[in-house]
Amino acid sequence: MHASSCRVGIIGAGTSGVYLASTLARQGYQVDLFERAAQPRTDGCGILLISSGLEALQKGNPRLCDQLLKAGSPAKKFEFRNLRGGVANSEQATYGPNEIPAMLIHRRAILETLLDDLSPQLLHLNAEFASVTQTEQGVTAHFKNGQSWEGDVLVGCDGIFSKVRDAVVPNIEVSYLGDLVWRGVVKDETFCPDGDFIVYMRGRGIYSNFFDLGQGQTHWGFFIEREQSESERGTHRPEDTAIPPQELEKLPHDARAVIESTPPQDIVTNFSYDIDPLPQLHQGRVVLIGDAAHAKSPSRARGMTAGFEDVLALAHHLNQGTTIEQTLAQFQAERMPIVHEYQLSSREVSRKTGRTGKKTQVKAS
Ligand SMILES: Cc1cc2nc3c(=O)[nH]c(=O)nc-3n(C[C@H](O)[C@H](O)[C@H](O)COP(=O)(O)OP(=O)(O)OC[C@H]3O[C@@H](n4cnc5c(N)ncnc54)[C@H](O)[C@@H]3O)c2cc1C
Repeated sequence: MHASSCRVGIIGAGTSGVYLASTLARQGYQVDLFERAAQPRTDGCGILLISSGLEALQKGNPRLCDQLLKAGSPAKKFEFRNLRGGVANSEQATYGPNEIPAMLIHRRAILETLLDDLSPQLLHLNAEFASVTQTEQGVTAHFKNGQSWEGDVLVGCDGIFSKVRDAVVPNIEVSYLGDLVWRGVVKDETFCPDGDFIVYMRGRGIYSNFFDLGQGQTHWGFFIEREQSESERGTHRPEDTAIPPQELEKLPHDARAVIESTPPQDIVTNFSYDIDPLPQLHQGRVVLIGDAAHAKSPSRARGMTAGFEDVLALAHHLNQGTTIEQTLAQFQAERMPIVHEYQLSSREVSRKTGRTGKKTQVKAS
């Protein structure tokens, strides 16, 4: 397959979609990246980007990896505390001489670094994917604004609530993991010193983590176990997004103070979901990567990394394959066992630490 005559449409400008677009564009493919929002979503909070995620960026473009190593804080210590603040376990992170460290980094820094590597004319904003049609000769994506795109391959990178997924495996339900989650980023250099990742272990219906993001910033996550009401099933967040004070009071005073000092506009709230392993990752000329293909519980911090690994694998098979069908089948054969293991093991860790999964239909955002 000649890259220069292959037209690739990508739906979703999250980290998976932007990295795929820049990687394929550099290899000479004709790329169009479609995002429903008016701007790429550079909100979000801190991410633990594990070493294999940075390696996947380094293999695709070493400059991206070098830039991210400067934009966050290398993870140095993981400390597990009980809800009284007592330390149950503390582990120093150790890295081999040539090993890339895991990074504690703001999602915004990752996405902006990836966007800097992308020609702006490839990105089409306010383009909400609605449906797809395909023939043996090609694939057409239809958008809510009435426009359409025609090409050779369509890649769904549109996240956990993927619409493109309907063309690959219809009617997938998301599973509620049992937690309502608040995350925030706040100016604070003292609670989490250089490279620290602090976990308040699950107990009394809550769980919380804090980590240094470098540049004087701290990320925190606060999870409460809570049933969803009938009307909340499949929604992104509850109507009332305030943290219940009686739940916050279960944390020690110093940890609570970090959360309470965060400006409300820097806090995001969502119900936590994953999806079951999909029986296939492509159908004809449509293929899924990232959370659209394998959204998982954050318990093993594999989500973003798995999307970057998908990008490398898809680019590799596109370069090797002779037909689209053969290329996507090879991509699926390589990636499916790996992402299924990530999904199942992440869910297992969640369950062991007290969360449950309940299937639910997705509601429109
Ligand atoms: C609480 C929590 C903590 C996490 N912590 C970590 C962590 O520490 N480390 C880690 O590696 N991962 C973590 N993750 C997972 C990680 O955030 C995701 O795996 C990753 O961001 C997925 O990227 P993506 O590009 O595949 O999807 P997304 O980031 O969801 O991007 C999808 C994009 O598609 C767009 N889109 C959606 N629908 C359409 C449409 N119809 N048309 C056009 N565009 C559309 C959206 O606007 C969005 O821009 C965490 C997740 C959660 C929920």
